[in-house]
Amino acid sequence: MDKKILVTGGSGLVGKHLQDILPEATYVSSSAYDLTKMDEVKEMMIDFEPDVVIHLAARVGGIVDNINYPVDYLEENILMNTNVLKACHEFNVEKVIAILSTCIYPDVVDTYPMREEDLFNGPPTETNFSYGFAKRCMAAHIDSYKKQYDKKWSYLIPCNLYGEYDKYEEHHSHFVSALIKKIYEADNSIELWGTGKPLRQFMYGGDLARVIKYMIDNDVVGNFNVAPEWVHSINDLAEIGKKACLKDKLVVNYDNTKPDGQFRKDVDSSKLLSVLKDFKFTSLEDGIGKVYDKFSKRYDR
Ligand code: NAP
Repeated sequence: MDKKILVTGGSGLVGKHLQDILPEATYVSSSAYDLTKMDEVKEMMIDFEPDVVIHLAARVGGIVDNINYPVDYLEENILMNTNVLKACHEFNVEKVIAILSTCIYPDVVDTYPMREEDLFNGPPTETNFSYGFAKRCMAAHIDSYKKQYDKKWSYLIPCNLYGEYDKYEEHHSHFVSALIKKIYEADNSIELWGTGKPLRQFMYGGDLARVIKYMIDNDVVGNFNVAPEWVHSINDLAEIGKKACLKDKLVVNYDNTKPDGQFRKDVDSSKLLSVLKDFKFTSLEDGIGKVYDKFSKRYDR
């Protein structure tokens, strides 16, 4: 009998990329069940009786939203994650794959790129303090279930994502989507926050979906960083974005009265790649080009 797969956060960026390659799963979002409420989470489990739960749902947002609503980020994520994991235990869900983020790693460590064992080696950066601790609680919660009940549960720690399904509203959009929108709308110049110097890894959302599907298909269990090996400064990314969007001549200005965020948070994915040996990440040029193409077809100026 085929396993019943339930995906929370199905309407989000990652959820939609997963739907493209895993159509047989069931996808839910907040309009069906509010995961901050335990009675709705239990109702969801009774309705679907899943064997596998891919827990993508989270309160996710940009730096400004995280600075303005730290209590909401902490409480909503803790409630959602705690309810989902407790219900997965109560309803005997065989396999759980949950998603953390590299932005919950310590603000600074001695050696980069960071490995999975660095996760608790210092506090997260100030602008991600609440989201970071809520996600770290989920990691501790999953590891505790594995120790006490021998569960085949896992978490993935992906770097910053981008993709065709990202949201483009000012308060919600992530860096690459905001960059693409700015490039698309600009005639001569664009303005970015900070100094342009922070280092980042960016991954195409479809790549994370392929990793999740591989773990389900091949019964892989474990906690893994997921990020391509390349690390770029924000300024390099802006230049790559300009080229991928065929707007080389745009000038990039920086507003350094605005925060940079964490300086670097690059991670080492060699543990994952020792399992997914032939896995190839989508290049930034190809990924950004694909997103720009779709974006420019969807939005009229
Ligand atoms: P997203 O586009 O913001 O989508 C969030 C999803 O969570 C939506 O489906 C949303 O449903 C659902 N959700 C939010 N609050 C909910 C609630 N109270 N009850 C039920 N569902 C709720 O997020 P994403 O970018 O796909 O991220 C997926 C996962 O990857 C998250 O765990 C995130 O932390 C992690 N991650 C993301 C990034 C990134 O750059 N995007 C990087 C690293 C890790 P509605 O649409 O109905 O609101």
